[in-house]
Parts: sequence; structure tokens; C-alpha cells
Amino acid sequence: MSLSARGLVVEFSGHRALDGVSLEVPSGKTLAIVGPSGAGKSTLLRVLAGLLRPASGDVALDGIDVGPLLPQRRRIAMVFQDDALFTNMTVRANLRFALRNGRTGAAGRIDETARALHVVQTLDRRPRQLSGGERQRVSIARALLSDPAALLLDEPLAHLDPELRRSVRDEVVGLRQRFAGPIVYVTHDHAEAMSVGDELAILLDGRIEDAGEPQRVYDSPASLAVARFLGDRPMNVVERNGAYLAIRPEHVRVNASGEVRGHVVRRETTGADAYVCVATPDGEITARVPASQNVPDEVALEFPETFVRRFDRRSGRAL
Ligand code: ADP
Repeated sequence: MSLSARGLVVEFSGHRALDGVSLEVPSGKTLAIVGPSGAGKSTLLRVLAGLLRPASGDVALDGIDVGPLLPQRRRIAMVFQDDALFTNMTVRANLRFALRNGRTGAAGRIDETARALHVVQTLDRRPRQLSGGERQRVSIARALLSDPAALLLDEPLAHLDPELRRSVRDEVVGLRQRFAGPIVYVTHDHAEAMSVGDELAILLDGRIEDAGEPQRVYDSPASLAVARFLGDRPMNVVERNGAYLAIRPEHVRVNASGEVRGHVVRRETTGADAYVCVATPDGEITARVPASQNVPDEVALEFPETFVRRFDRRSGRAL
């Protein structure tokens, strides 16, 4: 079962929230979509789920247009950022609700799915009596029990604290053992996107700017906009010979033999590493060095050629 979309356009009072988005997620694969707030991520998921009708474009399962189908008939389940569990029912009743009527062995499936998502202990409680992480896992369990053909996750970890995020993220990666269909996972956190996605798509301003294997997108972004968006810190960009050259902070070398001289204007340590911001004739360049490296105020920077990416000055596309 594959999920695909072609040429999706959504306009809100003249503003294009989606500006021709196409994607294809094969069975068994997770597409992680990352973009800043307002990029159109939720809008895209709502269109895929059938909750919002696009001005143009279509959505298909295994090549069959699902446009005419109501959300509940599409078999595309969506887990929302704010879980939408029924607060007046127990977790078990919430999960039972997801199963279609007349299903045999329902109790067994509920227990089994709850076990897989580590929420068995919550089955007889009400959603209010669960932690944020437990509620998210129950929401995922509920989506799975609805027997979806495809699963959409909208920032499922957005409201969780860092420790919980780690465990629910493991859960999401582990989902793969329970669910064989395509998954679309949306987040504004690039590290999360890279760790859950088999494929990564960068959504900026309603357009997919780049898509592909996560490491490729990180190493060789298709455009300057992606280079500036993706990463703990954006790529350093300088203009030379009519093109933009970009390099990641972790690839800039700080040593005595470097070609570009500069003066350290800021230092920031993250524990294992330090980011050193250097004023140079080309502008400010940030280098990441081990926290233990002693960096003097006057430095020379080296940009190893293999890590330098070039972008067209006018279009911003990779050269
Ligand atoms: P994201 O999920 O990436 O933060 P959204 O899909 O929520 O982005 O929003 C994309 C753009 O569309 C934003 O500019 C947002 O303000 C706008 N938008 C979203 N929903 C509506 C709506 N119902 N009415 C008007 N504008 C909307």
C-alpha cells in the first residue's frame, strides 16, 4: 500500500498554505516532513487525511484517488498534536471505539496493542489520569486499532518533555514492527525528523524544497534555503566568484594553517562541543570544535573542499 499526493494546492484567503506539494510514500517507509511553524505541515496532513479539500491536486492510495472518500472511509489515520481522546471514557473504551463494530477478538487486539505501546497499565484509567507520554501512546494505539492503510503523525512529541520525547520516539520507531503501511511524520524538529524518517522532506512556505535520504539532504541540500534551515546551526554561507559557498560548522577547521583569518566574537559551549563565532572578511563564520579544544582569540579557519557546497547566486539551487 503506497500513499501519494500530486500537485496539492491550498489557499487561505489568497495565501497559499500549500503551493503544489507532491509526495510518494511506499509501504513500510516513513516520510518525515520537517519545516518551520507556518510552513504548511498541518495543512498537508489534513489534506491527506481528507479533513480539508485542496483547491487542486489529489491524494491516492495505491494509485487510486481517495478524493471522493470521506475521512472515515479513507483508512488514513491521523494522530494529532493534541491527542483527541474521549475524556469521559476509560482508555480501554477509547481503544474499543476505534475498532469497527462486530469485530471478533476485539479484547485480545486491544490488550496486545496496548502491550506493544506500553500502556496496558492505563487501560482502566481515564485520559486525564495519564501522563502526556501515555496519552500520546494511547492515541497511536487507537490509530493502529482502526486498521489504517496509512498513518499520519502530526508533531506527536511536540508537548512532551525531553525525556518523554526520547521514549515516545523509540515507540514511534518501534511502530514499524506493528504497522507495515506508509507513515507520514510531521515535526519542526530536524533531529527528530532525521531519526524517524527513512526519507526526509523539507517543507518551506508551502513547497517541498528538498526530499530524499536524510543524510543526503543534510550533507548536500538542494537549495540555499534548506542549507540555512536544516541543522542545529545553519550552514555558514559566503559569497564568492558569483556563487554562494556553504559549509557546516562541524566541518570548519580552526587551526594555524587556515586560509581565512579572523577574530573570535562569541563562544558558546554545549557540553561536548563549543560553537565559536569568528568575524572574518567574508562575514561571521561559526565553527564547531570539541569543548576541550583551546581556541585563541585570533584564529585561522580552513574549509575542507569536500565539505563545501555551492549554490547558484540567483536561484539559490545547488550547483
Ligand atoms: P504548520 O503546521 O507548518 O505550522 P499550518 O499548516 O498550520 O503550518 O499553516 C500554514 C499556513 O496556513 C499558515 O500561514 C497559517 O496561518 C495558515 N492557515 C492554516 N490554517 C488556516 C485556516 N484555517 N485559515 C486561515 N489560514 C490558515
